[in-house]
Amino acid sequence: MIRYSIVVPVFNEELVVEESYKRLKQVMDTTNEPYELIFVNDGSRDKTPEIVAKICENDKNVRLINFSRNFGHQTAITAGMDNSSGQAVVVIDADLQDPPEVILQMIEKWKEGYDVVYGQRLKRKGETFFKKVTAKMFYRLLSSMTSVDIPVDTGDFRLIDRKVCDVMSSLTEQNRYVRGLVSWVGFRQTAVTYVRDERFAGETKYPLKKMLKFAMDGITTFSYKPLKLSTYVGFLVAGASFIYLLVVICLRLFTDATVAGWASTLAVSLIFNGVILMMLGIIGEYIGRIYDEAKGRPLYIIREKLGFDKGDDSAEK
Ligand code: UDP
Ligand code: MG
Repeated sequence: MIRYSIVVPVFNEELVVEESYKRLKQVMDTTNEPYELIFVNDGSRDKTPEIVAKICENDKNVRLINFSRNFGHQTAITAGMDNSSGQAVVVIDADLQDPPEVILQMIEKWKEGYDVVYGQRLKRKGETFFKKVTAKMFYRLLSSMTSVDIPVDTGDFRLIDRKVCDVMSSLTEQNRYVRGLVSWVGFRQTAVTYVRDERFAGETKYPLKKMLKFAMDGITTFSYKPLKLSTYVGFLVAGASFIYLLVVICLRLFTDATVAGWASTLAVSLIFNGVILMMLGIIGEYIGRIYDEAKGRPLYIIREKLGFDKGDDSAEK
């Protein structure tokens, strides 16, 4: 029986995937227990799938899932977890920013009886100031907006027990924010802290647009607060308008300065239109996601699976 499954999402990682395989193999071999490395190729347009297929041919512990196109990091992780069979499942980025050696500490905690062991970043090396600041702000904003206890500065680098993995697979929601879902399901959770290294090679596969979508998913799937904002702002604006209306009536009745109101009329109209559009946008973010759920499309489409039929190697170990 396979003891550990390591899930590695890869998107255009031809420069790093070989090295991450080596490091992961080195670390996992020291456990002396049967394991599998599942690379999920998220529609790479470079040599990544060929490189992994080759590794897969030569190493019976390696598996490859090829998506039909790019479905995104969170979906790739989900597919890896769905197709894993280990008693403990570890999710780790391919770029070696999360040091594979930390997996051993996670395994220790798991053996102590924890069901989820997540990696908490003490420091991030080699990332832009912008990324560090926005990430820090985002994690704190999200935790202030939701009642789910989502740990801050924690990515998807974590170990989860089989039973947690099965529960996660039974959640069919689209636009997944995996690290939030893992917190939401509960179980006994603990952290190991680590220093996030620099990317081994290549560039980040999370440009600003993907980061924004990711942040929006995190907030919308775990908080209604933005929707409530419309109510609060609505009341506030209605109250202010009422006062302004009283002022206007008084001016009309008791003075003759009512014509010179062009600037103030325009200002009020601009503010109100801005607020209304913003609120509509927020509502739209939620409706779009409801629409995604209503369509009920599969989360991902697998083009091909390699290495999954190599059978159980526990007899050799
Ligand atoms: N990734 C993916 N699909 C995507 C974007 C990224 O599978 O659409 C993978 C990528 O190959 C890497 C991990 O997700 O293994 C994290 O991406 P990256 O290191 O670029 O993000 P960052 O660390 O810069 O936030
Ligand atoms: Mg990275």
